[in-house]
Amino acid sequence: MESEDRPKSFIRTMIDEDLADKRYDYVMTRFPPEPNGYLHIGHAKSICLNFGLARDYQGRCNMRFDDTNPVKEDVEYVDSILNDVRWLGADWEDRLYYASDYFEKLFQCAEQLITLGHAYVCDLSPAEVRQYRGTLTEPGRSSPWRDRGVDENLDLFQRMRRGEFAEGEKFLRAKIDMSSPNLNMRDPALYRIKKAAHHRTGDQWLIYPMYDYAHCISDAIEGVTHSICTLEFEDHRPLYDWVLEKLNWPAPRPRQIEFARLNLEYTLMSKRKLLELVKENKVSGWDDPRLPTLAALRRRGLTPSSIRLFCDRIGVAKKDSWIEIDWLEKAVRDDLNPLVPRVLAVLDPLKVVIENWTDDKVEIFPAPFFPDDPPKMGSRDLKMTREIYIERSDFELNPPKGFFRLAPDREVRLRWAKYLHCHEVITDSSGQVSELRCTVSDEPRGLGAQSDKKAKRPAIIHWVSAQHSVKATVRLYDRLFKIPRPTGDLDHELNPDSLVEKPQARLEEFLADAKSGDRFQFERLGYFIADLDHTSAQPLFNRIVTLKDTWAKIKAGGGAAAS
Ligand code: ATP
Ligand code: MG
Repeated sequence: MESEDRPKSFIRTMIDEDLADKRYDYVMTRFPPEPNGYLHIGHAKSICLNFGLARDYQGRCNMRFDDTNPVKEDVEYVDSILNDVRWLGADWEDRLYYASDYFEKLFQCAEQLITLGHAYVCDLSPAEVRQYRGTLTEPGRSSPWRDRGVDENLDLFQRMRRGEFAEGEKFLRAKIDMSSPNLNMRDPALYRIKKAAHHRTGDQWLIYPMYDYAHCISDAIEGVTHSICTLEFEDHRPLYDWVLEKLNWPAPRPRQIEFARLNLEYTLMSKRKLLELVKENKVSGWDDPRLPTLAALRRRGLTPSSIRLFCDRIGVAKKDSWIEIDWLEKAVRDDLNPLVPRVLAVLDPLKVVIENWTDDKVEIFPAPFFPDDPPKMGSRDLKMTREIYIERSDFELNPPKGFFRLAPDREVRLRWAKYLHCHEVITDSSGQVSELRCTVSDEPRGLGAQSDKKAKRPAIIHWVSAQHSVKATVRLYDRLFKIPRPTGDLDHELNPDSLVEKPQARLEEFLADAKSGDRFQFERLGYFIADLDHTSAQPLFNRIVTLKDTWAKIKAGGGAAAS
């Protein structure tokens, strides 16, 4: 995981202090997803952070599933998550854990809390619990069951485990402080009855621990030193510490540190919303390249290193913010630029007939794959023929001011090849330009408006031979939402043009033999990848990112946080 030069983050400062104070003599972190959805780029930030800290401090980072809620969890998610974390380049070695592995231990700890008088079984209904809890301005009221004796509590808790009560009939809660200003400390739930099968423990359990209770103990069992989570858990930290303290957990106890979650403009990270997009067929599946899931970004063509670079650049902060999508696109371009060969492709072909060229004449123009560094990968031969295709947008019947590409009686240069002069425009019955009649020459002729001083030399445009090109479908992806900070209103906020298909695109012919996953820069158009469904009979490419570089704007918009 790359590291560019950047100031040290507050998390690293805290870890350095902990090591200097000898609070810990090693560093251990963990990545703790709940297997209830696919990972997204926000999770990537957490993965890069946790595994990156372990790497930099010669520590370890565990992979742990926080699988305490059987109702929403599934092995499908476990498998996809492991695949995604591996893809990102994180290595948990042999340390793959599940909170469900600790269910017995968690149960014993709960019995211990009961025995010590720190937990009780409560019979209030969920609605009553809400009434008793109070509000931010009013203290809560004690449950009538708060003073049950230890033996009765132990007996009831064991009977809860045996399934003697219905869901919602009883629950185990911590005995802390009903008047605490922190609502999380008003006797929070520790265990609830759930008569649901768990994807790993089957029907072994009828009660399941709450996240706040299970998380700190799981961290402590594994010897985690720094339990890094997102800001919304800041108010849960007193509970995290309380549980371990009341259990007399031996030092060193883990320490929870919160950081701001990643919000990326024009997309959403909420698992619930992502599920809705998939279930309501607003996208084609979890790997639809418009989604922010890692499966989607992979299919879109992003490399793991570009995502790591992005996460490294945005750094970690203590305050929530939205990151401009340009940061991600810039990281992708920077990552792909030295790796990806340049080729020619035409997305909206306009036929050009070269009148001073015979039907069977073929001329070869060698074209380097890396124009700035030709020896890097050598070149391929472009074949010029009487009929070629150029991009429809490179021609204007009535060129507006400032348009320096092809127009009647104007000339352009064909990339790697000759100068092209337009003599005649053929339109179809609807008035649409259907074909150009042109001639070519080896030297510029300086025709028409291009005597314009600003355009001293003709513009260069891309092209392919009609005969030596293949037809392909190219998918152009844009932002999923049309507003930068969507609220999740899928009926009004989705961008209707987030996917534009170019079914008539023409590519250099060798691209038909590309393998799924091969990446190319189509000159002037962006970076593209041969899709999973690409075949030589039906070539299919996705645009990964455009070439438009908005880095200047990003710099003006403010800098990155510390990493
Ligand atoms: P939920 O808990 O609502 O199901 P979640 O997004 O918190 O959703 P988890 O599976 O609990 O999902 O997340 C695993 C880890 O990834 C947690 O440590 C969490 O803090 C972190 N994480 C989740 N979303 C983001 C985000 N947008 N930015 C940074 N870290 C995130
Ligand atoms: Mg979570």
